[in-house]
Amino acid sequence: MRPWNEREQAAPHTVRTARVMDAEVSPLALDALRFDNRYVAELPGDPVAENYRRQVSACYSRVLPTPVRAPRLIGWSAQAAALLDLPAEVEDARCYAEVFAGNRVLAGMAPIATCYGGHQFGNWAGQLGDGRAINLGEVVNRRGERWTLQLKGAGPTPYSRSADGLAVLRSSLREFVCSEAMFHLGVPTTRALSLTLSGEEVVRDILYDGHPAAEPGAVVCRVAPSFTRFGHFEIFAARRDASLLQRFLDFTIATDFPELVQEADAKRRYLGWFAEVTARTATLLVHWIRVGFVHGVMNTDNMSALGLTIDYGPYGWLEDYDPDWTPNTTDAATRRYRFGQQPAVAQWNLLQLANAIYPLIGEAEPLNAILNDFATRYASEAQSANAAKLGLPSYAEDSDEGLFAELFALLGCVETDMTLFFRNLAHVDLNAATIDPLLDAYYQTAALSPAVRERTEAWLAHYAARARAVGEPDAVRVSRMNAANPLFVPRNYLAQLAIDQAETGDTALLDEWMAVLRRPYDEQPGKERFAAKRPEWARHRAGCSMLSCSS
Ligand code: AMP
Ligand code: MG
Repeated sequence: MRPWNEREQAAPHTVRTARVMDAEVSPLALDALRFDNRYVAELPGDPVAENYRRQVSACYSRVLPTPVRAPRLIGWSAQAAALLDLPAEVEDARCYAEVFAGNRVLAGMAPIATCYGGHQFGNWAGQLGDGRAINLGEVVNRRGERWTLQLKGAGPTPYSRSADGLAVLRSSLREFVCSEAMFHLGVPTTRALSLTLSGEEVVRDILYDGHPAAEPGAVVCRVAPSFTRFGHFEIFAARRDASLLQRFLDFTIATDFPELVQEADAKRRYLGWFAEVTARTATLLVHWIRVGFVHGVMNTDNMSALGLTIDYGPYGWLEDYDPDWTPNTTDAATRRYRFGQQPAVAQWNLLQLANAIYPLIGEAEPLNAILNDFATRYASEAQSANAAKLGLPSYAEDSDEGLFAELFALLGCVETDMTLFFRNLAHVDLNAATIDPLLDAYYQTAALSPAVRERTEAWLAHYAARARAVGEPDAVRVSRMNAANPLFVPRNYLAQLAIDQAETGDTALLDEWMAVLRRPYDEQPGKERFAAKRPEWARHRAGCSMLSCSS
C-alpha cells in the first residue's frame, strides 16, 4: 500500500451521522457482503436507544459508530479480507475507508456494543463492556463461515464509562500488525482486516505523567468468529441473572461450539463446553510461551471464550529471555501478567469462568476436575512444544527434565535473545557442538563469562547426544526446529519504528514488515533487519520496552 499522503485526499466530510450506504455507489465486493446477525436476533437487547453511559441489563446495546472527518485506509490484510470474500486489493480506498472507519453503515449491518464484566488485576470490576468496540454485524461468507466485524476506536458506547471510545494510530497499528502476525505464527487469534486513520486528533497521556498530547486517531476493523469473553458470562452471574446466563451460554454453544449441541443433557453440555474452553486456553498459552508473547493485560474481560488471543494493548515480545518481564507499565509493581506467570493466570481466569457458570451446574467437583486438567494438559502440551523447539520428536519423561531445566536456567543467566537463540540452535553442528552459531543471540557477548560459556558448551554436548540418539537425519531435526521457532516476530522496537514512520504519513515500513511477518518461519534474503535483536537505543524507550494502557 502506498503512503497515504501520496494518495488522493479524502473529500471534505460533511455527513455527521452514520447512514446506510447508497447501493449504487458501493463497490461490488462490499455490496456483496451478506449479513446474518444472530447476536441481535437471538439475544435480548437494551431497550434504551440513546447513546449515553449506563448500566445495561441485557446482552447488547444498539449504537452507531461516530463519523470521523477524513478517514484514510492505511492498512489492509489480504488474508483477513479473503475470509470475507473481499478482494486482496481494495477497489476504492475512499469507499472502504468510509465503511471501516464507521462513517457508512452498509445495508444488513446492525451495529451494537456488547455488555460484559470482568476481573481486572484480580479484582471484580463490575460492568465493563465494549467501551470502544462496535460490532458491525456477522458476515456469512461463501463457504458458510460466520465472521463478526468489529470496529475498535469508532466512538463512545453506553459502556465507555469515563473514556472517549477512541483509539490512536500507535496502538491501532500495533493491534493490526500483531493480530495478523500471530495468525501467521500459527497462534489462535482474532484477525485484523484494516487500519484506517480517522483524520481526527485524539489526546492521550502516554506515560500518565501529566503530559497529554494530541495523536492521530485510528480505527481497526477486527474479525473473529465471535468476540465473546469470559467477562460476558461473569456479568450475568454477578447480577444473579441465571436465566440470561443460561440463554447466553446456550447461544454461545449454538453459534461457536455447534459440535457440542448434540449433548441433550444440559449439565453435561455445559461441562463439555467448559472443558473445551479450558483445553483451548491451555493450547493458547502453550503457543504464547513458545513464541515469546506477553499479553500484558490478562484480565478476564480480555480472555476469549474461543481460546483466541484478543485485545492487543500493552503486549510485548520477549527479547532477552526473562520470565519475569511484563511490558505493561500499569503492571510493573506486581508483575501479575509477567511472561512466565501467564499460564497460571489463565487458570485463575478459568476459575472465574467456572464460578460464573456454577449456577448452571450446581456442583463444584466436576468444574474443579476440569480446572485441574488445565495444569496437566498445559504441562504435557508445553513439553511437546519444547521438544519441537529442540527438534526432538517427543519429550522423554524419564530423561529430558534436566536438559530443559538447564536450558532455561542458561537462557536466564546472560541476556539472551530467545527468538535468535532457538533459531540459531538449528545451526549447531551436532558432531562439533560449539557455542559459535549462538553468539549473535547474546545482547552483550562480553557478558559471556568463561564459566557460562563452558556451561553452555556442556549443555550443547548433552543436547547433541540426545538429538543424535534419536537417530533421525539432521535435516528432520532442523526442519522441525524451524517450524517451531519463528525467525520473525513483531519485535517491540520494530513496531515503534513503523509507528514513527506512519505518524509522518509514510507506511512503507509497515507494509514491508507486514509482508515479512506473513512468512515468520522462512528465511527471507534481504529482510534480515526484521529479525535483528533489539538495538541499544530501544532498551529504555517508551513503546519499545514498556507500554501503557493509554491507547
Ligand atoms: P482493556 O483492558 O484495555 O481491554 O479495556 C478495559 C475496558 O475499558 C473495556 O471495557 C474497554 O472497552 C474499556 N476501554 C478501554 N479504552 C477505552 C476508551 N478509550 N474508551 C472507552 N472505553 C475504553
Ligand atoms: Mg479489553
